[in-house]
Amino acid sequence: MNAELITTGTEILLGEIVDTNAAWMARRLKDLGVNLYYKTTVGDNLERIAAVMRQGLGRSDVILVSGGLGPTVDDVTRDAAALACDRELVLDQSCLEHIETIFARWGRTVQDNNRRQAYLPAGAIPIYNPVGTAPGFAVEVARNGTGPALLICLPGVPREMMHLMQNSVEPMLAERLGADRVFLSTRTLRTVGLGESLIDQRIDDLMHLSNPTVGLAAHFGQVDVRVTARAGSADNAKAMADEVADEVRRRLGFAVYGEGDQLFEAAVADLLQARGLTLALVETNTGGELAERFCGLPDSQDILMWTRVIESTADLAPGGPGEVVSEAGARWVAEQVQLAAPGDDVVTLAVCGTNDTAAGPYGAYRGETFVAVGLGDALTVKRIDVGGVDELARRWSGNGALNELRLRLMTASGAKSADGA
Ligand code: ATP
Ligand code: MG
Repeated sequence: MNAELITTGTEILLGEIVDTNAAWMARRLKDLGVNLYYKTTVGDNLERIAAVMRQGLGRSDVILVSGGLGPTVDDVTRDAAALACDRELVLDQSCLEHIETIFARWGRTVQDNNRRQAYLPAGAIPIYNPVGTAPGFAVEVARNGTGPALLICLPGVPREMMHLMQNSVEPMLAERLGADRVFLSTRTLRTVGLGESLIDQRIDDLMHLSNPTVGLAAHFGQVDVRVTARAGSADNAKAMADEVADEVRRRLGFAVYGEGDQLFEAAVADLLQARGLTLALVETNTGGELAERFCGLPDSQDILMWTRVIESTADLAPGGPGEVVSEAGARWVAEQVQLAAPGDDVVTLAVCGTNDTAAGPYGAYRGETFVAVGLGDALTVKRIDVGGVDELARRWSGNGALNELRLRLMTASGAKSADGA
């Protein structure tokens, strides 16, 4: 079953209102297993709405329209639907009674323009609206050689549209889908440390599969791999998605830090907690990127021993190197932290980045960041080839630092484990 969406309204067309209905409806259709092939936005104009409806009837099994069912003169969806389906608008007695009941409950009398809302294209199936006045409706339009197409019109007010969609339209579509109803299962693997193109190389063959589909989505400093399977039952869809997602995990190895919507810092916090460790963190020239991210976690007080953000190297204790953006400098900062926060159960993380507003991942000068991790007896320093104070540079170098900490936590032995193992 192939569907398309039409959202109506001049305000939406011109960007005065963001079209949240289309995004929401698209997700609901996807969850039902309906293929969505087109989305159109059209202003409050009778002929143009009718024209896109006709176009939809010529190429889609289901055309889902939102908006323009209200009582005012600019609400022309009903008329447009009648025009597109070559039907008269006729009074639907049951809709009128429904509207009258709602008005009676509100203590209001039905005006002519409200009565207009009970007019539907001849033969339309009414979709009663218990949360507003405008009823929706569905019209079956005969086609040659195949079953009828279905034109479904819903009110534009999001709350009303959602209610009718969930309670009336989705059951209607599920029934029509019958055995063709598709169940989707999705797994999202979250990665850091490998660029998009490297991931692409490692799972290139999987990305050419048609079911499950495997796709990449690059976010701010990390890449998600989404695996989506479709099948005739929820169990089969899940088994198919699992098989491919597990293979992706195997190929990407340590780069996969978690699944679903887990934040990278949350994954690192989980590792700290599992090992019964707390973190002593010092950052210079990062704008407090990691302190902010860790503090944003619900259980941050359990993992953060202390954090310090140093704006300028002049704030550092005397006796150290003047320049901390170097291997020796980061090591020295981490050693100062170890002195200040001693303990077997404390991990030290010192992140020392370039203090240069011109530096950044896309600048001529990328900057650099030195990350020192002190765990047990070992203190390691790694250079990350990006630094600087802009948002992306901070996110990027912050993820690099977190990854360094994470890999140390995953591979180091000798650190205490929370369960005593
Ligand atoms: P009403 O009875 O309120 O006139 P209607 O079915 O005629 O309902 P519209 O007039 O198209 O719907 O829209 C009513 C309001 O709903 C808009 O002013 C807007 O606030 C919201 N709305 C409409 N369409 C959308 C959309 N696609 N996305 C988000 N909000 C929308
Ligand atoms: Mg309206």
